[in-house]
Amino acid sequence: MRVLYVAAEAAPIVKVGGLGDVAGSLPPALKKLGVDIRIAIPWYEEIDPRKWQVRERDGVGETKLGESEIPVYLIAREVFAGTGIHQAIVGTAQEERWFSGFCERVVEFVDRSSWKPEVFHGNDWHVSEALVRLGADRSIGTLLTIHNLSYHPKVLRQGILAARVINAVSPNYAKEILTAEFCEGLCEELRSRKADLVGVLNGIDYSYWDPKADPRLDVTYDSQTWQEGKRRNKATLISELGLSSTDRILLGFVGRLDPHQKGVLVFANAIERLVAQGAQIVVLGTGERRSERIIATLCSRFPGSTAAVIRFDEALAHRIYAGADALLIPSRFEPCGLIQMIAMRYGTLPIAHAVGGLRDTIRDGETGFLYEDYSSRGLVRAVTRSHGVFRDESHRWVEMIRRAMGEDFSWERSARAYLKLYEKARALL
Ligand code: ADP
Repeated sequence: MRVLYVAAEAAPIVKVGGLGDVAGSLPPALKKLGVDIRIAIPWYEEIDPRKWQVRERDGVGETKLGESEIPVYLIAREVFAGTGIHQAIVGTAQEERWFSGFCERVVEFVDRSSWKPEVFHGNDWHVSEALVRLGADRSIGTLLTIHNLSYHPKVLRQGILAARVINAVSPNYAKEILTAEFCEGLCEELRSRKADLVGVLNGIDYSYWDPKADPRLDVTYDSQTWQEGKRRNKATLISELGLSSTDRILLGFVGRLDPHQKGVLVFANAIERLVAQGAQIVVLGTGERRSERIIATLCSRFPGSTAAVIRFDEALAHRIYAGADALLIPSRFEPCGLIQMIAMRYGTLPIAHAVGGLRDTIRDGETGFLYEDYSSRGLVRAVTRSHGVFRDESHRWVEMIRRAMGEDFSWERSARAYLKLYEKARALL
C-alpha cells in the first residue's frame, strides 16, 4: 500500500501543536505495518536544508523523518518564503492563500512523481483544495482526517465533501461534530457524510514521550521509581520557576493560548481561587496576544505561587509533564488532545473538561479527574476535589498515578484502524 501523508507540520522537523506530533508518529507506526508511507509538508523558511540534509529536485526538497527512513517531501518553498510555521498557523487570512498554493504544488508533485500513491491522506483544512482536485482522479483514494474543525471551516467544507473517507481524531469528537454545538456551521455537510465518518483515537510516540529515557529531564524514572523521580523533577522545576514550595500541589497548563478552544479565559478567571486554596500554577503557552497578556499579568500578581512562560519551549514542556502533580485542561472542545496522554505517561494526573477525546482517554477518579460544566466554577470544583485526594488520601493519589502510567496510548491499535481506512478509500475507487 502506497500512501502520501500530507500535513501542515510534522515533528521533529516543524511543530506548533498536536498535529505535528501526530504527523511525526503515526507514519512510523504505519510503516511498521508494511505501508509504503511518505510525507509531504510545506517548505517553511525555518527548515534548514543543512540541518535536515535536504536534497532538492525540481523545486521539491527531500529529507527523512527523524531517525526513520520515511521520506519527507518539502513543497512550495516559494509560497512560504519569509514565512515560518509560527506565522503560517495562527489563524490569519493570509494562511488560506499560502495553503492554496501548497495544495496546488502537492497535486503537481503527485502528477509528476514516478512514485504514485494509492491513497492520499490529507489532514485538516490545509489540504482541502488538494482533495478537491484529486477527487476527479479516480486512480487515487482520498482520506481526510479532521484534527480540528474550527480553523477555516469554509475551506475545510470542500475537503469534507470531496474526500472518499473521513475520520475524526477520537470516537467522541466524531459524534460531537454532528451536533450544532461543535459542528462549526458544517452540520449539514458532516451529516451528509455520516456513513463515511469514523473516529480513530490518536496515540503518542512512546519512544519520544518516555520518562525513562527523556534527555530533557533532570532525573529519568519509570513505573517503579516515579515517586523519587517526580519529587526531584518537581524540586528542580519549582526552583527554576521561582515558586515557593515542593509540598504544595503544582498544577501545569501547557498549550496554545487559543481562547476559542483551550478555555484560556475560564482558566484565567479561576487562577485567584486556585491560588487561594494553596495551589501553585505554571503556564507554558503562546498564541493569541490578548490571552498571552491576560495570563502573564494575572500570574505576575501571585509571585511564588504562579509562573507564566509565554513562549514555545519543547524542553520546558517535558519538565512540566514530569515535575507537575496535575495538568489542567479546561478546553471548550478538544478533538483528541495529546497532553493528557503525555501527562499520564509521566505520572501527572489530568484535570479536564469532559469533552471530545478527553472523555475517551481519561477515567474519572481512576486515571484523572473529569468535570462536566464548562466554567471557572466547574474547573475550581474539580481542582478542589483532586486537591483533596492529593492532600488527604495520598494512598489513592498514588494508586491513580500507577493506573495512569499503566494506560496504553501507543499508536499500534490506531495504526491498524488507519490501514483499514486506506483499504476502504482504495476500494471505493
Ligand atoms: P493542539 O493540537 O490543540 O495544540 P494537543 O494536546 O493535541 O493540542 O497537542 C499539543 C502539543 O503541543 C503537545 O505536544 C504539547 O506539549 C505541545 N505544546 C503546546 N504548546 C506548547 C508550548 N508553548 N511549548 C512547548 N510545547 C507546546
